[in-house]
Amino acid sequence: MDFRTLCIHGCDKKFDCTGAVSVPIFQSATFAHPGVGRSTGFDYSRTQNPTREYLENIVARLENGAEAIAFSSGMAAVNTLMELFETGSHIIASDDLYGGTHRLFFNISIKKGLSFSLVNSLEQMRRSITPDTRAIFIETPTNPTMQVIDIAAVSQLAEKHRLLLVVDNTFLTPYFQKPLLLGADVSLHSGTKYLGGHNDALAGFLVVKDHDLAERLRFVNNTTGACLSPFDSWLIIRGIKTLAVRLEQQQKNAIQVAAWLERQKSVTAVHYPGLRNHPGYEISRRQASGFGAMISFALTDGETARRMLENVRIIQYAESLGGVESLITYPVLQTHADIPEEERKAKGINESLLRLSVGLESAADIINDLENAFKK
Ligand SMILES: *Cc1c(COP(=O)(O)O)cnc(C)c1O
Repeated sequence: MDFRTLCIHGCDKKFDCTGAVSVPIFQSATFAHPGVGRSTGFDYSRTQNPTREYLENIVARLENGAEAIAFSSGMAAVNTLMELFETGSHIIASDDLYGGTHRLFFNISIKKGLSFSLVNSLEQMRRSITPDTRAIFIETPTNPTMQVIDIAAVSQLAEKHRLLLVVDNTFLTPYFQKPLLLGADVSLHSGTKYLGGHNDALAGFLVVKDHDLAERLRFVNNTTGACLSPFDSWLIIRGIKTLAVRLEQQQKNAIQVAAWLERQKSVTAVHYPGLRNHPGYEISRRQASGFGAMISFALTDGETARRMLENVRIIQYAESLGGVESLITYPVLQTHADIPEEERKAKGINESLLRLSVGLESAADIINDLENAFKK
């Protein structure tokens, strides 16, 4: 079945006998047993719920995974993953990470005795491997500077040293990029972003290609409890139905907006992997079928950046990304505020950098909005 069809008819609605076209929301915390020692397959909604199970099956199929596990947020997914590792384990991560992941690693996970090395090249990655290293965690394209990492190359290294490779696939989604087919063991999502797509629900996913790993993760999730609610599961199911068309159109808009930004005098750099001069353009072409709709750009100074944020009207100054509404954020004050200043500066995350999630409005209106904000 084609990806677009899977988004809509992902799997059988095996728990429904009414013919409901939309998956029912099983808003039940618990399920009655037909007899002693017997189960309908559902016992308690922390463990599993039919609406959530339907969603997990769709996400697993879209990512070409064996199983997907749904969480109450992307961060709950990352945190559950960290519970896999024993005290003393070392994890190598790309140095340009979603700020919340960085905050989790260096404030919570280190208290459990995990240690992290942040790297920005394959060579550094190779050199950072120690006998305690257990995993490599990357994001590509990275947030917010849009660097592209060669997943297959990292996967070769991970395989050679028997390390678990985790790829945060939030920015491109399986519509454009399938990390498990490129050698990753886990594809991670903030389902809050493109999968949900409407800025109305939080969700997270871990998609894995092996049932044993899924079972270990389900054990942690069932034990710690950060599971996705039936209603939010339904919102994400509904969002996924239009994933392909949304991403296709949002990418078209992003290409136009990026080209326009490149021509502006007050814009000193545009980071979008779909631009031919982007250092990750060739790798993107090879490992993904699209470039997505996230752009970051640098302005001449912080004053201009702040003026943009205050003067946009259609685009909203808000955290998050991936929804139908265009959103602009200020990484230095928002998503990446908790990253030490030195680290931030080294990566170019400064007062003049803005990140734009291009939505589904007309490209002309988005560009007009930016133009007006520049003029003010
Ligand atoms: C938002 C985001 C997360 C965290 O997800 P939440 O749903 O906000 O908890 C993780 N990774 C990336 C790349 C994100 O953009």
